[in-house]
Amino acid sequence: MTGRDILSDAGLWRDAAYVNGAWVSDGKAGTMDLCNPATGATLATLPQLDAGQVRDAVEVAEAAFGPWRLRPAKDRAKLLRRWFDLMTAHADDLARLIVLEEGKPFAEAKGEVAYAASFVEWFAEEAKRIRGDVMAAPEAGRRIVVLKEPVGVCAAITPWNFPAAMITRKAAPALAAGCTMVVKPAGQTPLTALALAELAHRAGIPAGVFNVVLGRASVVGGELTANPKVRKITFTGSTEVGRLLLEQSAATIKKASMELGGNAPLLVFDDADLETAVDGFIATKYRNTGQACISANRAYVQAGIHDAFVALLAEKVGALKVGEGFEDGVQQGPLIDAAAVEKVKDHIADAVAHGAQVVCGGATHNRGPLFFQPTVLSGVTQAMKITREETFGPIAPVVKFETEAEAVAMANDTEFGLAAYLFARDGARLWRVSAALEAGMIGVNTGLISNEVAPFGGIKQSGIGREGSVYGIDEFMEQKYLAWAGAGEAKLV
Ligand code: NAP
Repeated sequence: MTGRDILSDAGLWRDAAYVNGAWVSDGKAGTMDLCNPATGATLATLPQLDAGQVRDAVEVAEAAFGPWRLRPAKDRAKLLRRWFDLMTAHADDLARLIVLEEGKPFAEAKGEVAYAASFVEWFAEEAKRIRGDVMAAPEAGRRIVVLKEPVGVCAAITPWNFPAAMITRKAAPALAAGCTMVVKPAGQTPLTALALAELAHRAGIPAGVFNVVLGRASVVGGELTANPKVRKITFTGSTEVGRLLLEQSAATIKKASMELGGNAPLLVFDDADLETAVDGFIATKYRNTGQACISANRAYVQAGIHDAFVALLAEKVGALKVGEGFEDGVQQGPLIDAAAVEKVKDHIADAVAHGAQVVCGGATHNRGPLFFQPTVLSGVTQAMKITREETFGPIAPVVKFETEAEAVAMANDTEFGLAAYLFARDGARLWRVSAALEAGMIGVNTGLISNEVAPFGGIKQSGIGREGSVYGIDEFMEQKYLAWAGAGEAKLV
């Protein structure tokens, strides 16, 4: 089984763009083949829209905005809830699509679907809790009233590493707020996005409210950022592309949310519980074969626990099972493409050339050209590429340190500030170091930090804004202030 035949519900296999509630298969910019990274097999051939067709999708979303924003919040909530229920009912099929086009193990893909659906459930609830404010005015007889209103048409551009969750983390709050959306999924993972559109359709989300366009990134991104009818751009991906989209959006002064690259440090102090620290590192490092923005990119381990940490880490990493996502017990799938493999090889070669030791792994895996052995490096320093750049692969580099101040200085020595992790038992140290680390999210004695209740996002060049949580919906709302005269306590007539 290679494609559509792997699904229980063949209707979730969609290979056309979704605009105004209809499937668009005549892309004016040709077609693109989609490959399975584990096998290299062609999965589907998808239409590529041209700039005019993307403009049409924006027009459609603008036309749908008026009626959608006027629907009572409770109605929008019900439709989102139905979308959540359908995602949950079809979780296995959604996970199969993720495995096929992205390569992660099936169990992890199921986890991603549950995570993706949790945002739809959460924001279905939050839709009903949108509220403004009334403030005491400085002058007599006045009231200051603050209303929250939806921003308008939002454009979302998403990456391949979490093909479902990176869409729902944006679409759910946008639709809950009363915005409409045009999504451009990553070119390597459109099938999951299109299945989500099919489920949105079945849930009864009206035509034009949620649209998925396909096409060359620069063409689609160029139109979405230049078009003045798009009022907000919400992006998850590399810092490099985020910077470009911000530049392109400057001409039309769009609101922007940016979830960008990371280079997360993980600090292990002498007083940490060894097993908890190693398991925490493996949980954050090897999820999705190291291809997550919040993956710990580099571990700093204090001298007293260093050797025991490296030994236990290598033992556990060496036992990770590599293979195709549908095989039983597989924990590591392929990397997404040949460029990803080259980056991993380059980071290892650079580290070894500068004195690092390969403790386990270190080479491509015999399962196929995009598979790589889970790897541990010791003797790593700040001078190496692997501590300075996001590796996005299954490589765990370990740097030895002596003092807390030294570890925090190395951890913060990066333009990124998405996530950081620390492992220790001393409560005062946990607070002190958490306060000193420059990151939007900190895992304290845990490698697992993502859920729909917590605000997800970075500082420095890792991004702008937050997704999920009670704060996430504000990213899709404007404040409108009414200066209300003649509204104070007066003599009754
Ligand atoms: P990417 O190359 O920046 O691509 C992300 C999205 O941007 C894709 O849809 C891509 O389209 C599109 N894109 C590329 N060039 C574009 C352009 N010139 N104009 C408009 N759109 C353009 O990133 P990626 O390799 O997919 O994902 C990995 C990166 O995402 C890592 O840096 C990771 O840290 C980051 N990330 C961050 C978060 C977070 O929440 N902070 C979460 C996940 C990933 P095509 O696919 O069609 O090229």
